Amino acid sequence: MTSTTSQPLDPHLPGNLSKLFRHSGEFRWQGVIPTEYKTDDSSFQGVSRQVLVGENGESPRFHTRYFEVAGGGFTTLEQHQHEHVVVVLRGEGLALVGSEQVRLGFGDVLYVAPDEVHQLRNPGSEPFGFLCLVNAERDRPRPVDPNALSACEFRPAE
Ligand code: MN
Repeated sequence: MTSTTSQPLDPHLPGNLSKLFRHSGEFRWQGVIPTEYKTDDSSFQGVSRQVLVGENGESPRFHTRYFEVAGGGFTTLEQHQHEHVVVVLRGEGLALVGSEQVRLGFGDVLYVAPDEVHQLRNPGSEPFGFLCLVNAERDRPRPVDPNALSACEFRPAE
């Protein structure tokens, strides 16, 4: 039986070797340089991004990134067809998912379904960091007007 979806995107990429991203402390990894979260708008605040796997010669169908939201910061309120898997590694924060607001802490794993409106927020003062896995081939996020959400009733899930 053949399955094309189990194949890497391009098994012949030169230099595509197994590698270890050694944690070097303070949620940094050897050889990984933090970059801008996004450069095209100002719909976010205090977010840094580190791409661990997916943009340096690897060929998975999924990318593995680490995001960190500083105290008071937040990611863009957005939606898109691709899914997210969020794995919390540092601190605590809030996830807005659809009309739900949920508290997240170390070890929590959040799945965000296709087209769900979502945002990650850090109302605290300590950094809030998480791995976020996404499809390698994915659609562009579409910003959501926060005013358009006013009809939704946000409520804590706990
Ligand atoms: Mn997203």
